[in-house]
Amino acid sequence: MFAQPFTEDADRVSISFELYPPRSAASEIRLPETIARLAAVRPRFLAVTYGAGGSTGGRSLEVLRHIRAHTDIEPLAHVTCIGNTYAGTASLIREFLDADVTSFLALRGDPPAGTAPGEEILGDLQSAAELVQLIDRVQAERAPYREEPVSGHPGAVRVAPRRPVDIAVAAFPLGHPRSRFPQQDVDALLAKQAAGATLAITQTIFHADDYLAFVQRARNAGVTIPILPGIMPITSPARLRRQLQLSGDPEPSDLAIALEVEPTVEGQREIGVEHAAALARAVVAGGAPGVHLYAFNQHETVLAVLREAGILNQFEEENAR
Ligand code: FAD
Repeated sequence: MFAQPFTEDADRVSISFELYPPRSAASEIRLPETIARLAAVRPRFLAVTYGAGGSTGGRSLEVLRHIRAHTDIEPLAHVTCIGNTYAGTASLIREFLDADVTSFLALRGDPPAGTAPGEEILGDLQSAAELVQLIDRVQAERAPYREEPVSGHPGAVRVAPRRPVDIAVAAFPLGHPRSRFPQQDVDALLAKQAAGATLAITQTIFHADDYLAFVQRARNAGVTIPILPGIMPITSPARLRRQLQLSGDPEPSDLAIALEVEPTVEGQREIGVEHAAALARAVVAGGAPGVHLYAFNQHETVLAVLREAGILNQFEEENAR
């Protein structure tokens, strides 16, 4: 699924969204409407986060099942290494496959909130690259045995190649907090590609140049898989602070100042939408194969970003209103 739609000559920009399992009864009630509204603009996939250590596992699966049952959009399951055994992770992957979820984002995972530095328990799998290999292996066990005829040799058959699962991985244009030098993030991505990853999705970026320069460095080093820019509409100073605290990314001072000086909530939202839309336009103009939007389980803001960026066609524009 990933290699084909993310080609540069695709007739439209690919879009995708990230959701998380609902954290309250109220957000659980709202989520089906959000999923339906996002599905209506034909994203390539709807990704659902997973709490490392299994804190949201069952709820992630419920959301993925809902997407599979109520839309024709591909559900994509995040899976993490942290705090799980090799056997436990393999059985989790089987559970997803049983639910007909065959696209994954393989992640090392962030430890649950409150874990002191150095106290995280990584588990048997030491990196996202190892998890990519495990997902591929578990799927290989599941693939049905099929034979196909050998042309020119009547009666002869060979084992038909299995259709591999799609496995995305994370990429870090601004640098991962653990990496000691910029090239390490490119090396980590190369290792994940070598392990079988078919798509990369970046951390939240704030400036198109950071993404485009990273893609260039990755291409120079031999990364060939599509790299989707991750875009998060930041609509308040509090959300920006929270995001930077979680990711350890450097502060985008232009956006931070614009949000701080704007007194109204509506004005801040407009600044966030316009910033994300301008970013989406710039990365697409620079050659990005699509945009991946962090939706915060709300459709209005990400759909406003896509409308403002001019990425939706007329039919989708109508659906997005
Ligand atoms: P890895 O690729 O294993 O490593 C991350 C970085 O560490 C590398 O880029 C490299 O710089 C460095 N590194 C790797 N190996 C080594 C080494 N041997 N020595 C030194 N440095 C090394 N977390 C969740 O818990 N749940 C989610 O659902 C989730 N979704 C995410 C979605 C996206 C798109 C992104 C970008 C992140 C997400 N995260 C999620 C956060 C992610 O799990 C963390 O950022 C984690 O710390 C790194 O994960 P990774 O898969 O990139 O790890």
